[in-house]
Amino acid sequence: MTNIVDEYLKPGVNKGLFYGGTFRSPASDDIIEVYNPATAEVFTTVPCANVSDVARGVSAARAGFDEWSQLDPIDRARHLRRFAVIIEQNIPKLALLETTVTGRSIREMRAQMARIPEWIEYFAGIAMGLEGESNLVKGGYVTMTHYEPLGPVALLTPWNHPILILVKKMAAALAAGNTCVIKPSELAPCSPIVLAALATEAGLPDGAVNVVTGGPQTGAALCGAEDIHYIDLTGGTATGRKVAAQAGQRLIRTTMELGGKTPIVVCEDADLEAAIAGTLFAAFVASGQTCVSGARFIVHDSIYDRFTKGLAARADAITIGDPMADETQMGPVISKTSQDRCASMIARAKADGAVQIAGHSDPDLKAPFDKGFYVRPTVFKDVSPDQELFLEEVFGPVISITPYKDEEEALALANTGTFGLGVSIWSRDIARAHRLSLGVRGGVVWLNDHHRNDPRSVWGGLRDSGFGKENGWDALKAYMTKKSVVVRTAPGHDDWFAGSTRYG
Ligand code: NAD
Repeated sequence: MTNIVDEYLKPGVNKGLFYGGTFRSPASDDIIEVYNPATAEVFTTVPCANVSDVARGVSAARAGFDEWSQLDPIDRARHLRRFAVIIEQNIPKLALLETTVTGRSIREMRAQMARIPEWIEYFAGIAMGLEGESNLVKGGYVTMTHYEPLGPVALLTPWNHPILILVKKMAAALAAGNTCVIKPSELAPCSPIVLAALATEAGLPDGAVNVVTGGPQTGAALCGAEDIHYIDLTGGTATGRKVAAQAGQRLIRTTMELGGKTPIVVCEDADLEAAIAGTLFAAFVASGQTCVSGARFIVHDSIYDRFTKGLAARADAITIGDPMADETQMGPVISKTSQDRCASMIARAKADGAVQIAGHSDPDLKAPFDKGFYVRPTVFKDVSPDQELFLEEVFGPVISITPYKDEEEALALANTGTFGLGVSIWSRDIARAHRLSLGVRGGVVWLNDHHRNDPRSVWGGLRDSGFGKENGWDALKAYMTKKSVVVRTAPGHDDWFAGSTRYG
């Protein structure tokens, strides 16, 4: 039986905006073209929502909130579990849609999609266990606390994991009793539209999940909408500064999951084979387009030559090509802009004196992939900490390697720059690995692994990588406000203006 995912898998299908439980015609004819990055052809179009579309999406979310927020968490969990089941039934098709629009290899997307329902099941579960407290306090009072949802919330998402990042946010927001207006990336907006339609199919009230497609202007209109009460952004640091400033004007709380330049510290006692395999995955999965992609390697000088040669050989052996083919290990980057940014950063790294040791030749692909936005896995060694490649996010498969002599230097190198998101440390010495984990700046540190992510494992950065958390109780509680109710149990009453002395 065909469904909404099959419809969106066909090129050129544009059913409009999705809010209030159904597809709606946009106010204007403005559209955004969505590319297949593997062929550089336009795959489809989506509406570019304007301020009036956004206002309608937000009022649909308000109407949905009036129903959804009144449900008992046990009933909300029941709906969410049905949503998780429908997603699960559609995993193979959702993987195809994600691969078509992002260029991520089908092997990656199948593996990632298989875990998506866990986020919904997890937040539905913990929301049922969210309990307030009560305390007997001085003077004859009982204070009680209740958690309450905030209202319609804005979810602004990037293109690199369109479903994973959206579901992390949406599961927490919905389980907490809020409704969502999603503004997906203009580069990969299809699967968020489909997910909203699947939420309605699962029986969530109309207006629980709404999508307004468009670019930064649509996002800014959403952040400025009066009835939006929380903004959760995953995106670049420059976008974070703008959105946080807008939220600040309106005194709205935010989560900011922003950019990074993840250091990988490889110690002299690391298991070399495991470290090369694990850090290859860290650097090149998703064509190096994750916020925690292993980007700057800091490698002990006693193993530097063996490590760099081993990593370069493995990088050059990665199979790139049609992302739909089972054997393809790496697809293209998302856009021409991204491909050009990689090319110019590679050229500047060479001019800065870094030594290229992998990714020399251009990809040699047959039509239609010869036009795709491909970048070979590219490795530079001997990169110094003042060079652009050491400091700036590439968001593509281009990495740097720098040697270090002792732990003090490793930490200084790892903590250079303005980001603070992911870090991985590779060592067989448990004490050393822990010691380094305490010294590095980052919100997520992996010891002898990388990229691992779970609904229970809190995720978020600091400094230019943003603030706030995804995953875990922190994410759920961020979407709620804690109300204190103070009940007088003391006998009689006080009359301050007739001379009572009790105060506070
Ligand atoms: P982006 O900042 O260009 O866009 C993110 C979203 O914000 C998009 O939906 C975009 O349309 C919207 N937007 C842009 N300008 C806006 C504005 N002024 N007001 C409101 N909305 C606006 O980011 P991108 O290119 O889609 O994603 C790549 C970036 O995301 C990288 O920097 C990456 O490191 C970061 N990222 C971070 C995490 C994390 O967990 N910290 C995860 C994935 C990606």
